[in-house]
Amino acid sequence: MDDCIFCKIIAGEIPTDKIYEDRELLAFLDIKPVNPGHTLIISKKHFADYLETSEEILSKMSHLAKKIGQKIIDSRLGQGVNITNNIKPAAGQLVNHVHMHIIPRLEGDGYKLWHGKKYADGEAEKIKGKLKLDL
Ligand code: AMP
Ligand code: ZN
Repeated sequence: MDDCIFCKIIAGEIPTDKIYEDRELLAFLDIKPVNPGHTLIISKKHFADYLETSEEILSKMSHLAKKIGQKIIDSRLGQGVNITNNIKPAAGQLVNHVHMHIIPRLEGDGYKLWHGKKYADGEAEKIKGKLKLDL
């Protein structure tokens, strides 16, 4: 994709701090880390977001995310890790090229992913109906 910043990174047009590369994936440091070591995993093939991405690539991204998460813990860059995916602008996706965030977390770092709300009476029952899966 011509105007995709991550495609430009893959093409070598924009430099990054790479930590892993293979035929299908690239992992590099996020330019604006939540904490040092915040890493992005991207697919070399352009998919707009996680929901558009092939199962095969998602599985490889997940495998790599686990390895990087463990490395973050082992290297003590994080005491914990968030592995997250923002899908579409409403969820905070700024770059429309599939990527996973691997975020080192430290006790008391103050980063809060979400604030939970309560269901009103009977609401959970209705929502459950909308989400019921038949795979
Ligand atoms: P998202 O909001 O999930 O789309 O996240 C996109 C992420 O890409 C942000 O955390 C940015 O800091 C990161 N980012 C954007 N441009 C670059 C770049 N050139 N190198 C490294 N990370 C980048
Ligand atoms: Zn792209």
